[in-house]
Amino acid sequence: MTYPFPDGRLFVGGEWQSGTGPEITSTFAADGSENMTFASASRDDVLSAIDRARTAQADPAWRNLRPHERATYLYRIADGISANIERISWLQSRDTSKTRTEAHALAGSAAATFRYFGAVLETSDDLMTTPRGAYQSFSVHDSIGLVSAITPWNSPIASDAQKAAPALAAGNAVLLKPASWSPIISLELARIVEEAGLPKGLLSVLPGSGREVGNLLVEHPDIGKVSFTGGTSTGRHLAHLAAEKLMPISLELGGKSPTIVFEDCDEDLAIAGVLFGIFSSTGQSCIAGSRLFVQRSIYDRFVARLVEGAEALRVGNPFDAQTQVSSMVHADHRASVEGYVKAAREEGGEILTGGARPEGADYSQGAYYLPTIIAGLTNQAHTCREEIFGPVLVVMPFDDEDDVIAMANDSAYGLACGIWSRDHPKCWRLARAIRAGTVWINTFKQFSISTPFGGDGASGMGREKGREGLRAYQRQKSIYEDHSGRPHPWARWP
Ligand code: NAD
Repeated sequence: MTYPFPDGRLFVGGEWQSGTGPEITSTFAADGSENMTFASASRDDVLSAIDRARTAQADPAWRNLRPHERATYLYRIADGISANIERISWLQSRDTSKTRTEAHALAGSAAATFRYFGAVLETSDDLMTTPRGAYQSFSVHDSIGLVSAITPWNSPIASDAQKAAPALAAGNAVLLKPASWSPIISLELARIVEEAGLPKGLLSVLPGSGREVGNLLVEHPDIGKVSFTGGTSTGRHLAHLAAEKLMPISLELGGKSPTIVFEDCDEDLAIAGVLFGIFSSTGQSCIAGSRLFVQRSIYDRFVARLVEGAEALRVGNPFDAQTQVSSMVHADHRASVEGYVKAAREEGGEILTGGARPEGADYSQGAYYLPTIIAGLTNQAHTCREEIFGPVLVVMPFDDEDDVIAMANDSAYGLACGIWSRDHPKCWRLARAIRAGTVWINTFKQFSISTPFGGDGASGMGREKGREGLRAYQRQKSIYEDHSGRPHPWARWP
């Protein structure tokens, strides 16, 4: 079954209108065909969306809604996503070349995210604090106002939901800018939000250039918070812009996550986990386990089995239910990955498998790249220090716990880590010692919306998800009220 693409209009302040910016094209990179071309947002479109967002957010009908009433919008959006899950996952597979299985899971998680933040909103309490005098003191949480959500192309529906759900729950208006390579899903989300009856202006979807539309969504004086997911250099640039305004910004950035395999692991589990950790999503995942450390005593055997496993992975069209490793998102991105593999060869890396495009008619038009495993490099090599964001794994041996902690932490990034061992005290020691926002023990890429997620160092700052995820979109205000009726000692009337 196929579904129609959106009609190419943008969702500006609750109205569907043609963009007035340059054209952008969404392609199905698995065969190079075009999904759709349409006019992106211009500065004027953004200014108009901001204007309407300001009015909608200031309206007491939204601002003063009681939490359980506002939550009903989130539940309706969640229901809308669930009811359209086939359509959304089909569109997402066309837009990003993600496998249907993964696109389906992401759409399900987006619905769960809206539902979760509706529930968090209904059940989150303000504080009545302990007074030290004859007064009462409270700490309450207000909306911020206008929130810009800027998202990457790798998991659009999930990233969009992770920002829009808590931001709307907190009573803000949201200006969402998806990446130019994957504009379709956010427009589809806008359609669902509109059907859910969210008042006009509270959500705008503005596909457009990062430099123009993205920058404006950060610099504009009316924007009170930015939630960004994307590359580290873009995040650093936006953090500078936010600093000028002293505006809060949360940054979910890149990674170069270590996976650590000890000699006492369950090898079958570890091999499957390592393969999934790096090659699912064709490696285009911020949390991909792209640096693998294997204890020297099992290194040769484990790596040989891993190579065998990588070669058995089914590379193919995202719409084929058997496919495990699909096309990359765009031919330009594959070119970037190829550049990294070339550099790895020049650095002395030995390509154990992959390092090339798959051959055959099924692959010739798509942006496919074989699962690639590289050995013979040290942790200092560029290939081990820079995020490649593709199906490329570097393997290195280690001797003992201290050795591997030092190597794992010797990275600018601090997003995720995987540990494979049957020794639970050792796993816990490592989990506490490794610098990472998320550590997986004998698993990888498991997620729960109730568990906070984020990175340290070059992987960003701030956390999304979890009950505290709502607070990231609120201002906290403390209120004291004196009820003693006594004048302050300063006021001594004659
Ligand atoms: P990117 O930084 O190029 O773009 C991300 C978003 O920022 C896009 O919408 C883009 O248009 C916009 N943008 C680009 N330049 C901008 C500018 N000057 N001003 C404002 N906005 C601008 O990243 P990408 O290539 O789309 O995504 C891949 C990156 O995202 C990888 O580094 C990956 O690790 C990271 N990522 C991180 C997480 C996480 O949660 N930590 C999740 C997914 C992806």
